[in-house]
Amino acid sequence: MSQPLRIPASEHGINPRDIDKQARSILQALNKAGYEAYLVGGGVRDLLLGLHPKDFDIATSATPEQVKQVLPSTRIIGRRFRLAHVHFGRHYYEVATFRAPHDKSDKGQTGNDGRIIHDNVYGTIEEDAVRRDFTINALFYDLNSAEVIDFTGGVKDLKARQLRMIGDPVVRYREDPVRMIRAIRFSVKLGLDIEPATNEPIHHLSSLLGNIAPARLFDESLKLFHSGKAWAMLEKLREYGLFSALFPLAEKSLQNDEDGNFTQLVKFSLANTDKRIKAGKPVTPAFLFAVLLWKKVKDGTSMYHELGNPALQSVHLAASDAFAEQVKTISVPRRFSNMTREIWVMQGRFQFKNHRRVLGFLENRRFRAAYDFMCLRARAGELPETECEWWTLIQEVDEQEKLAMCQAATPHKKGNRNSRRRKHH
Ligand code: ATP
Ligand code: MG
Repeated sequence: MSQPLRIPASEHGINPRDIDKQARSILQALNKAGYEAYLVGGGVRDLLLGLHPKDFDIATSATPEQVKQVLPSTRIIGRRFRLAHVHFGRHYYEVATFRAPHDKSDKGQTGNDGRIIHDNVYGTIEEDAVRRDFTINALFYDLNSAEVIDFTGGVKDLKARQLRMIGDPVVRYREDPVRMIRAIRFSVKLGLDIEPATNEPIHHLSSLLGNIAPARLFDESLKLFHSGKAWAMLEKLREYGLFSALFPLAEKSLQNDEDGNFTQLVKFSLANTDKRIKAGKPVTPAFLFAVLLWKKVKDGTSMYHELGNPALQSVHLAASDAFAEQVKTISVPRRFSNMTREIWVMQGRFQFKNHRRVLGFLENRRFRAAYDFMCLRARAGELPETECEWWTLIQEVDEQEKLAMCQAATPHKKGNRNSRRRKHH
């Protein structure tokens, strides 16, 4: 075993009080029972950067069963690699046993039930460090000694604000192509430079993302676009050719954006998402997909309409086409794709300003999302800004004024109204 650097508290400056109390109690319980246990990964990295970690993961020499003996609220999960989840009510901490790198046991071992166990080989702390992705993600914090334990030079890289892959970057990207996306995410999110040897292969390897399970890429794309720096993420992903591996339709739309409206829409929408996240407001993946696929859906709708389909059906056909294409790379859970579809379908309702329809629309549970989307379209130059203004105002005024606004907006010549009705029946 090579000797790691041990950085004392006086140098790294982590205050143990910034580690949440429950995570500390897990570390203490495992240490007391005679096991090694450390804070690891993003938690240590973010503390060193003076950021507030979003979760605290723990690595230990104890097996999941041993963790459960020490901490009875543990649930053991996973088949290929078993993990201990230590529960505090609904909240839990991931406690992972030191793990050997993949290749150490690549002898094709299988268990009695045929399940592949080669991933389930426990290792030493050093092996656990080097199987991680980037040096800055491979730091351990020892609560006992208050030291940061560094096997890979992560502390130095963090100081130099460098993102460096552990081991041979090409090998590690081939092993798990999602690491390319993670490289972009950490570099944008934390403002780090990607070290040249880590950086260069990404340009050539983006097509490897085609082999990743679409469900995993859904999770990854949310981490990218709900990071608070969504527009910067998009630009950087495009620069490396990674965006088209995730959102091929959106990439095409950006490339063929003759009037520039779509690019503006994406830009304003992502900026808006970033703002909501900074303000602690909720964001939904449904909106992200509504935005990124919009041009494809809009163009598809026109096409189906010109072919003689009714307006509503045209949107649905175009929406189905867009999703059928998108899920080849990123699968979208049904509850989100349904909401995305509703946002698109509802864009057709803003043109109708007669009083009854307006009141009904305002009560729709998806009105707010559809309205936000329409206003972004207006800002992007796709619709007159007055359309957004009208629907903003109507939500603010009292019932009487609502009626007046609707009457002013709908020239109610009797003949017109009747002839429109007749057409519908
Ligand atoms: P975040 O702040 O986004 O949670 P994180 O570094 O904690 O960042 P996680 O996805 O929570 O990222 O993973 C926890 C740790 O597991 C990482 O810090 C890294 O050490 C390791 N890890 C995660 N994904 C990979 C991967 N694809 N390859 C190698 N190691 C990984
Ligand atoms: Mg994490």
